Amino acid sequence: MRLKNKVAIITGGNSGIGLATARVFVNEGAKVAITGRNPKTLAAAVETLGGNVLPLQVDVTDVAATEKAFAEAAEKLGNFDIVFANAGIGGATPIGQTSLEQFETIIRTNLTAVFFTVQAALPHLNDGASVILNGSVHAVLGSAGWSAYAASKGAIRSMTRNLASELAPRNIRVNQVTPGGTKTPIWAPMAQTEDAMSQLEARLGGMSPLGRMSEAEEIAKAALYLASDDSSNVSAIEITVDGGMTSAP
Ligand code: NDP
Repeated sequence: MRLKNKVAIITGGNSGIGLATARVFVNEGAKVAITGRNPKTLAAAVETLGGNVLPLQVDVTDVAATEKAFAEAAEKLGNFDIVFANAGIGGATPIGQTSLEQFETIIRTNLTAVFFTVQAALPHLNDGASVILNGSVHAVLGSAGWSAYAASKGAIRSMTRNLASELAPRNIRVNQVTPGGTKTPIWAPMAQTEDAMSQLEARLGGMSPLGRMSEAEEIAKAALYLASDDSSNVSAIEITVDGGMTSAP
């Protein structure tokens, strides 16, 4: 029970990495609030987590709604020891085919909303709280077609380090998990059949020395380390979970 008596809030806790992290946190004894937009997957997440979480339907790009949801969670569960700003969207399009709207949606969801998620959490953070941002290996890769997404995640990497310095006087730690290709619904638009998904898994897995994509639980376990007192003097770092992809020659 590494998170006994801790309160956690996870954005995008109704799917993929956020849901896997909610499961790990609940199993480690935390009281957990999850946010998401989709009421069906939120309800399904609550059920699969054993009914023991607080669901909050909110679009994280709506700053006022996010503030309200965080205040509600703090009122119902208590102030937060852990904030996982995880909600995000994928999307690869060549620059010549990317509209201003597509670009702005990616930046607004993956970057602006993360900044304001942390801001919304600030009044409700306990002494010693752990803030975890979800980055991506795309921050350091040079993958054709991913420049808008990569820009959003590169900025998360910078923000982690700067927020860590800024919030340290309040004894708040800020760190990042950095997933490589991970099997979650984020890939569904790019692989709509089982065959296409197998091909994608083989291609992405083949980019790493360990030869496979990550499971969402493997990212959740990195988040658990950063959330728990095991990392009590760890701040401004990222834990990369990518099978060695980003350091392979
Ligand atoms: P999923 O698509 O499974 O989950 C994304 C989550 O974000 C969903 O819960 C979704 O909720 C939520 N979300 C998206 N936009 C909004 C919004 N505007 N407001 C509220 N919630 C929103 O994907 P993953 O679990 O893979 O993604 C989680 C994070 O991990 C993302 O930040 C992603 O960039 C990052 N990541 C993922 C990788 C991968 O290979 N899977 C690799 C590197 C990074 P809803 O469905 O209700 O909208």
